[in-house]
Amino acid sequence: MNKKIAVVGMGQGGMVAAIKLAQAGAQVTVYERDLEGKVGYPWRDDITASVFKDCNLPFPDKDVYVQKATWVFVSPDEKGTLRVPQLLPFVEISPNRQKLSQYFANLATEAGAVIKYGENIQKLVIENDRVVGIETKDGIEKYDLVIDATGMYSKLREQLPEKYCVQKTPSNQDTMYAYRAFYEKNEGTETFLPDVSNTMILRHMDNDGIGWCNLNEEGKVDVLLCNISRPFTDEEIEERLADLRAMNPILSEKLIYSRKVPLSVRASIATPVADGYVALGDSAFMTIPIMGSGIEAGMHGAATFADYVIAKDIQDFTAENMWPFYVEYFEKFGKGFALLDIVRRHALRFKAKYINWALSGKFVTDDTLKFIMLTKEDPRKPKYKPFMFSAILWKLIFYPSFMCTILRMAGEGIHAMSVASHIPSKYSEKKITKWAKKYDNLIAKCEAKAEKRKK
Ligand SMILES: Cc1cc2nc3c(=O)[nH]c(=O)nc-3n(C[C@H](O)[C@H](O)[C@H](O)COP(=O)(O)OP(=O)(O)OC[C@H]3O[C@@H](n4cnc5c(N)ncnc54)[C@H](O)[C@@H]3O)c2cc1C
Repeated sequence: MNKKIAVVGMGQGGMVAAIKLAQAGAQVTVYERDLEGKVGYPWRDDITASVFKDCNLPFPDKDVYVQKATWVFVSPDEKGTLRVPQLLPFVEISPNRQKLSQYFANLATEAGAVIKYGENIQKLVIENDRVVGIETKDGIEKYDLVIDATGMYSKLREQLPEKYCVQKTPSNQDTMYAYRAFYEKNEGTETFLPDVSNTMILRHMDNDGIGWCNLNEEGKVDVLLCNISRPFTDEEIEERLADLRAMNPILSEKLIYSRKVPLSVRASIATPVADGYVALGDSAFMTIPIMGSGIEAGMHGAATFADYVIAKDIQDFTAENMWPFYVEYFEKFGKGFALLDIVRRHALRFKAKYINWALSGKFVTDDTLKFIMLTKEDPRKPKYKPFMFSAILWKLIFYPSFMCTILRMAGEGIHAMSVASHIPSKYSEKKITKWAKKYDNLIAKCEAKAEKRKK
């Protein structure tokens, strides 16, 4: 493939595409706003290790990742807990985000791509409704394809001609506003549950989000506070930190560093392509919408794109020629994410009393979760007990309002998945516009109904 391709943004979405396309012979240039050695968040996040194999990439060196920690969910009243069983060793890992960026950069450079750091690309060059390049520090650079991997609030996506029907900005309800900070540990204290390092409080302080306070492998306390739909004020952060401190004595007042950052928690964009342009990763909202996990989802999306254009030997990057990759992506991932998007919108609004009850041991237990999550090969998987799951249904009967909430969530989620799976198989502006409206309306309607119920 002897084509000139610009990848804007050096996150994992952009880099998986950059590596694969450069390996296939394309002249790839990556433009990254941050400086060399500073790309990626200064912390660890969790992924499934198999994603590297899925994307046909070598496994990173041991210094990039550690085993994923043990987790426990805590109810809003902080009385109930549910332990998340740890899968077999290194099935789930926590890569260091900056080292992961370096891993991708090394592979891309080895494949022949050029990386330009300190380049904040703000403008697409568009001629006759086709993206033909970008404006760089050195002036206009022409490209056969521009891959937008700049994130959910992409400034490039906003500039596309209306006819492609590419959503310009996400809504507030599609964003999880996070405050992540690292504190020193109070000497001589132990975590909330001594055998579990990571604690996630659901609906923390009755907000539509979570809070965590974890002891990391370096002995620092990792704090995350999340809210849907509105950024944090400083007062709110202090209030929620005080609550975490009261529960978890490890959290001191000595701040090491902190950052406020938005996460995309919505189903994948309806259409990510225009002539000469494709959005990948968070730019196309390719995250698992429950928690905003986009490392793995963005890597899968980018690999699906690159593998498709290489296999079909695409020479002319029109929206029409690239579209089938997105149909494949929707079949493999997008339709499932549509379901999870609706589940998330309901679940984060569950009344605290339901979650308190569900985690009080009267509904699901640590053993139920172990039975669901552990594989047959794992000796820790409990034996099936008769009525294990019918007992759950039976308990729901005694909580009819919770049962209704769950049934409504399941019904709307399955409907969303069905609409998503009817993505037009061939590119037609008319058909895609019609389908995109229906798909986006599902989310808008779910939000509107949920807000109405809250009042
Ligand atoms: C607190 C927190 C916890 C998270 N936890 C997890 C987790 O456990 N698991 C998981 O899978 N995901 C997690 N995520 C989400 C994950 O970080 C993102 O979904 C993922 O990084 C998106 O990848 P990306 O390649 O699309 O973009 P990004 O990783 O956001 O990369 C975009 C890149 O583009 C660059 N850029 C932006 N604008 C420009 C521009 N104009 N010009 C040039 N360069 C530009 C940026 O500097 C950046 O390097 C978490 C996110 C946060 C904030």
